Amino acid sequence: CGIVGYVGPQQAHDVVIAGLRRLEYRGYDSAGIAVIDGGAIASDKRAGKLANLVTALEESPLPAATTGIGHTRWATHGAPTDTNAHPHLGEKRRAAVVHNGIIENFVTLREELELAGHELLSETDTEVAAHLLEVALTECDDLTRAMQATCRRLEGAFTLVAIDAQDPSRVVAARRNSPLVVGLGEGENFLGSDVAAFIEHTREALELGQDQVVTITAEGVEVTDFEGHAAEGTRYHVDWDLSA
Ligand code: GLU
Repeated sequence: CGIVGYVGPQQAHDVVIAGLRRLEYRGYDSAGIAVIDGGAIASDKRAGKLANLVTALEESPLPAATTGIGHTRWATHGAPTDTNAHPHLGEKRRAAVVHNGIIENFVTLREELELAGHELLSETDTEVAAHLLEVALTECDDLTRAMQATCRRLEGAFTLVAIDAQDPSRVVAARRNSPLVVGLGEGENFLGSDVAAFIEHTREALELGQDQVVTITAEGVEVTDFEGHAAEGTRYHVDWDLSA
């Protein structure tokens, strides 16, 4: 339902939670966050209000991190439980993924993964994307190319945002039939399902087109299509009155 991504000098935890708070107006049933901690994914996710997640994180804080993703879920496949909440991780816990929308062919993909020996932990359509992405990532060692390859296998509607435990320099996202916006900062960049996710930090935005993949680092933004060819989003300035 609501998505936030961040890479830059601020604490990823703080930026992600603030972004999720701004997205609460959309409605949701669960919330979660993942950050990169020295080669590993550190994550927490809870059914219920964002306040549940925040309380859990106060008791057991995530490590300091430059790179993170967050999600508020509106369940379509699987009950609103801690396990079904996003982020979802791959089998080796190297990739973490959040997702808005519905992956229509997830049953087929799930069967294929289970035949290959994967153990899926949730009832969601999303978890197949995390596993597929991690398989591709293990093969090519490049989160952007792994995302392109994964999207070529998915049908339906999706905004996906992912991190690689072994590459804290970037966050990669993709979209089909579901919105995705980049917030352009200075020495930092943001991702959101809508501009509310990062409006406190920047008003310079880049809207992604259909079937595009975007890679953000602290220093730059690169857009491609699902085949890996260079592409372009649409730049615009957000004119909102935040005092309202
Ligand atoms: N279909 C996914 C799920 O049920 C994502 C739902 C959403 O857009 O929040 O977990």
